[in-house]
Amino acid sequence: MDNNIIEKIVRTAHHIYDKDMILGKAGNISILDDSGEYMYITASGTDFKSLVHDDVIKVNINDLSYVSSKDKVPSMETNLHLGVYQKRSDVKSVVHVHSPYATAFAFSNKKLRQLEGFGEITGEYIAEVDYYAPGSKKLAKHASDALKNEDSVLLKDHGVITVGKDIDEATLLCEYIEGIAKTQYITHMLNL
Ligand SMILES: [Zn+2]
Repeated sequence: MDNNIIEKIVRTAHHIYDKDMILGKAGNISILDDSGEYMYITASGTDFKSLVHDDVIKVNINDLSYVSSKDKVPSMETNLHLGVYQKRSDVKSVVHVHSPYATAFAFSNKKLRQLEGFGEITGEYIAEVDYYAPGSKKLAKHASDALKNEDSVLLKDHGVITVGKDIDEATLLCEYIEGIAKTQYITHMLNL
């Protein structure tokens, strides 16, 4: 077990909770280790507020085997995280949240525009993936396909997923997406 990686995940989970980017026990975070053989991912049904070291599970990415001290199982979106690592050799961390403003856009018919001041503008809108059931193989496939060309996508009627060369980059991107959504929502209200 790599305690340094686990500590980063624990710290990030608490940060995401403190920033109101998570609702209930939804959301998951992973880091690919330097060997590229193991992914550390939050356990299914964990509360980010009180997440501890034992809530992070080391998963062998070749056969998805894992060892868990407390009968915990890896996140239901493990296949999605795995798909991203298989398709993006530059990505070492994946973060999935249900932050309220960005998720509201995912549930609405409005597209989320990229805005100046929130990092590099790569297109007019944040890419969106059609709805597939959370935890399903279809969601894993379609979302990881979309993330081949994007560092962030909205999951229709679900939430947000971002990737980065490290966990800080992926987390900051989640904050950007939420910031964009909040600003765009307020702008829309002011223009009513
Ligand atoms: Zn989710």
